[in-house]
Amino acid sequence: MDEPGVAGLEGIEDEIFGRQVLAAMKVAPRANLANATNIIVVTLYIALPGHPVFALVWVGLALPAAALRAVVWWLGERASPPRPTAVLRRRYHRISMLEVTLQASLTAILAAYLLPRIDPDRQVVLVASIAGILGAGAVALSTVRSVGTLWVVLHVSTIAPTFLAMDRTAYDVLTVQMFVYGAVLVAGVVYLADSFRRRTLAEINARREHQVVELLLDDFEDGSRDWLWETDSQGALTHASERLAEVSGYSVESLRRLTMVELLGRLAHPSDDGRRSVELLTDAMARGVGVRDHLLHVQVGGSEHWWAISAKPREAADGRVLGWRGVGADTTQAHIHGLEMVRLAETDPLTALANRRRFQESLDSVLDGEPSAGEVHLAIFDLDNFKVVNDTLGHSVGDELLVQVALRMAACREDDFIARLGGDEFAVVTQPASPPDFAELLFAPYQDVFTEPFIVRGNRLHVTTSVGCARAWPGTTRAEELVGRADLALYAAKAAGPSRMSSYTSSMTMRARERASLVADLQRAITREEFLLYYQSQHDLRTGKVVATEALLRWQHPRRGLLPPSEFLEVAEASGLLVPIGGLMLRQACRKLATLGGGVRVAFNVSHSELDANDFLERLEQALDEFGVDPQRLELEVTETAAGTPRSESLLREVAQLGVRIAIDDFGVGYSSLARLQRMPVDVIKVDRSFAAALRASEPRSTDVARAIMKSAVDIASALGIEVLAEGIETADQLAEVRGLGFDLAQGYFVATPAPDLSRHLRLVEPLS
Ligand code: C2E
Ligand code: CA
Ligand code: CA
Repeated sequence: MDEPGVAGLEGIEDEIFGRQVLAAMKVAPRANLANATNIIVVTLYIALPGHPVFALVWVGLALPAAALRAVVWWLGERASPPRPTAVLRRRYHRISMLEVTLQASLTAILAAYLLPRIDPDRQVVLVASIAGILGAGAVALSTVRSVGTLWVVLHVSTIAPTFLAMDRTAYDVLTVQMFVYGAVLVAGVVYLADSFRRRTLAEINARREHQVVELLLDDFEDGSRDWLWETDSQGALTHASERLAEVSGYSVESLRRLTMVELLGRLAHPSDDGRRSVELLTDAMARGVGVRDHLLHVQVGGSEHWWAISAKPREAADGRVLGWRGVGADTTQAHIHGLEMVRLAETDPLTALANRRRFQESLDSVLDGEPSAGEVHLAIFDLDNFKVVNDTLGHSVGDELLVQVALRMAACREDDFIARLGGDEFAVVTQPASPPDFAELLFAPYQDVFTEPFIVRGNRLHVTTSVGCARAWPGTTRAEELVGRADLALYAAKAAGPSRMSSYTSSMTMRARERASLVADLQRAITREEFLLYYQSQHDLRTGKVVATEALLRWQHPRRGLLPPSEFLEVAEASGLLVPIGGLMLRQACRKLATLGGGVRVAFNVSHSELDANDFLERLEQALDEFGVDPQRLELEVTETAAGTPRSESLLREVAQLGVRIAIDDFGVGYSSLARLQRMPVDVIKVDRSFAAALRASEPRSTDVARAIMKSAVDIASALGIEVLAEGIETADQLAEVRGLGFDLAQGYFVATPAPDLSRHLRLVEPLS
């Protein structure tokens, strides 16, 4: 095929010429009409009446000429479209030149023979006919400069001699006129041929440009998973490629019959999301604005796909939209991958519940919703004894327990949103249509799932939770605020003991603020060394002598004065500040111990968080070393609960190994295990002061109970071969009673009150009888 491709100038010239010839050939039928009229007029009116033989001869010549013209026309018709080949073009051109020569000869013969032989009336008609033939032919052939010019030149040059031979002034004038008209016609032909040429050239260039674009587009699509599309101003797809056919499930032919909007309308995924994605794009196109990587949700042959579409309007110089051009890509894989990533990023890998991040987003969105949807209730659950499970049975049991807890909670109520916030913390968000009178009732079913024990790898685990609840109407509260309130409520629930649920009240916020400022104060107090120790003596009930003295923490607050531990200890412990404070105090106690004579011991209180700190043992040894203290004279007081974990148990064994004594503080109020007491290197048990206080109670039953418990504590101590101390002795009666019960030691306001200076205190001691 004679494909122009990206041909050079010669190719273009060739093509223009071809088109010119073709155009000339196309007017052949119309030119033939003029010809036929001439033949009829000339034969019937001019030649036949006086010159029948000539008429017959001339018609005999004119008819084959007309036939030749018809052939030329037929060839031209057949040749376009497509375009004639170069060889054919040259052939048409030669035929056209030949035809023009033949026609001109016929006319010349007609004029030369008839003009001198007919009457003036017929002469007029003949001259007019000749003028008509000349003019009509020139116009008809004007697309090809050479053919048109040849037509005019041949006619003028062959007829002029005939005119001149007439030897009449009128014909002389006609000759001059004919030359002038001839010149004008040639100029006209040249002009028309040129403008035809220019127009053709512009058309060819435009077409080639389009072809180049097509070529590039095909090339692009061959090498990538993307496809290109183009529409006209009506939105019809003018470039629909194999690739688009492939991804859309339509053939290239049927695509060409569709507009882009129709195609997308048919492909839109039947979901809301799918329809909206298509609407947004068609909307943008209707408004004439481009889009970049617009995500379309489509359905092709029953399977879901995502396409990223970019499109730009093609604009004319005057801003009219000529159509659209764009790129499309099937991004299904990336989209599904992205969705999976999002899902993973929002899911807790252990329990498959929503994680904290998705929890926050969900809470944000319900709180952003309409108030008519109802009040939003949030509960945060925190397992009470999870740490013990983890520490004693190992992390894998702990993990499995969390999975089971998650399963039970998730099965609890269908429409609630459940998330794991981390560790052993879970959250439930619900928006009930008709909430119960007490918010606590709303979450009671979740607490109930903990009633039954969990069976994890053969262990029956009784787990309880503390729950903090908070609620808010949509539009009034931010998610962080609501979570903060539920946290405060949870804090309060925890403080109240295991398995408690509490709802947020505004006083919780106030207390939280106070706590926060207390923490800041405590931090300052550490650097300003505002902490000091008071000492309270412990007396041997037989000898009346002071055998030990308990160091008790005080805070010399710059504004509030001297504060007892009840004012700050809990916050110091919770904020982790008790560890540095305890460290400072331990050194102070050892320094004091170094100055004490008479073999008096110092008892020092240690809390759970201090024992838990990594470097407790190290610091203890350092303090003993630094002040050259005999470890036997230092006694650490720990509560039963603090001593109860496996970690503290082994730590206390190491403490005992150093020679430091160990006292069980507040005995009788925590969880005790006689077995543990037997295992542990305990030197003394200090019976909680609430029992001494109960001895004074007016109700005889509580007095009896207290006495019985104190008696059994004495028995236990004697069985274990350790000492037993009665705390909180405030009266002489109490003192007599505990002495009677067999206590070794006593401590209390009646015996000695806590005081900053131990040496003075020691001087005040009176032996007891
Ligand atoms: P605790 O270990 O039971 O200490 C005895 C508490 O009882 C002291 O209160 C003491 O002042 C008070 N007390 C003494 N005799 C009597 C009495 O006859 N009747 C009454 N009602 N109370 C009496 P304090 O000093 O306010 O200490 C309170 C708690 O703070 C201590 O209880 C102890 O658990 C903790 N604590 C004190 N100092 C320290 C310390 O340096 N470190 C740690 N971790 N905790 C400390
Ligand atoms: Ca104590
Ligand atoms: Ca105590």
